[in-house]
Amino acid sequence: MILTITMNPSIDMSYPIETLTIDGVTRVQNVSKTAGGKGLNVSRVVHQMGVDLVASGLLGGHFGAFIKSELDKQGIKHQFSEIDGETRNSIALLHDGGKQTEVLESGPEISEREAREFLATYEELLDSCSLVTMSGSLPRGLDASFYSQLIEMAHTKGVRVLLDTSGAALQASVRGNVKPDLIKPNEEEVSALIDQKLDLSNISILKKQLSSGELADIKWIIISLGADGALAKYDNTFYRVRIPSLDVVNPVGSGDSTIAGFALAMDQDDSPVDILKTGMVTGMLNALEETTGSVNPNRFDEFFKQVKVEKI
Ligand code: ATP
Repeated sequence: MILTITMNPSIDMSYPIETLTIDGVTRVQNVSKTAGGKGLNVSRVVHQMGVDLVASGLLGGHFGAFIKSELDKQGIKHQFSEIDGETRNSIALLHDGGKQTEVLESGPEISEREAREFLATYEELLDSCSLVTMSGSLPRGLDASFYSQLIEMAHTKGVRVLLDTSGAALQASVRGNVKPDLIKPNEEEVSALIDQKLDLSNISILKKQLSSGELADIKWIIISLGADGALAKYDNTFYRVRIPSLDVVNPVGSGDSTIAGFALAMDQDDSPVDILKTGMVTGMLNALEETTGSVNPNRFDEFFKQVKVEKI
């Protein structure tokens, strides 16, 4: 079973507005409210692909209860740790012909007791899981090294870890003694990790950069490139992944859907090439759907054949 961790989930509210009035009132009719946060996108896609999972992390208050009820409706198993604070909202104003203005709450502050309670739940869940994904930012109150602690606990039980986070939490996890098995940073994030600009145009420099310092000890480093596919490192082998062009509907959440694909392929011990193809296809399938973090599994085989992976 796959375990997905979302430490700072949110209710994603989307407000389609014809014209946004600054310093005035804007009325909105078709509001959409969904269980969001990167880890919940991963959960939804793993579930839609027909693979058993349990979603965990922190939830609190009325908004936390709403997220649980959404997961129940979708048939997604969950075991979140309760917090006193209220789970956050993330608001996207879709306005003026394609513009998107976002208001993101930072979320509740987590106490030491709540962190301890989560760790106890997590430790128990690890016993029934073979692989864990950790996605998104850490809430206030948790140290940047919190994911390192989760990675260490997972590895002690022989559970592999896919980590999709950024900033200080990513830096701390990469520098920790126990490394995640897979990271999916973007170009800027890798540049920050290696303290120099990542050179995507020169393969031999790129290989050296992805094998330098702490990155050398991370088995899988995958840099997804949107419509351009991805570049990846697995042990000491490097891959360029190319994908067909698509009539994209909504690419938001494609990165999370990619993590879902990597997770389910790794969990069934697929070859590195098939792991890369699976992640690319779930990312692409998400880009073809209107709903963020959603795929149509019936189109999986059709696209799997079209993804090309070459060693570089
Ligand atoms: P996000 O943060 O929005 O979730 P990301 O930057 O982490 O995205 P991307 O590299 O944009 O991730 O997308 C992940 C994968 O999804 C790509 O490698 C590709 O397989 C697929 N994908 C995303 N955008 C497109 C697109 N416009 N056309 C085709 N495939 C896409």
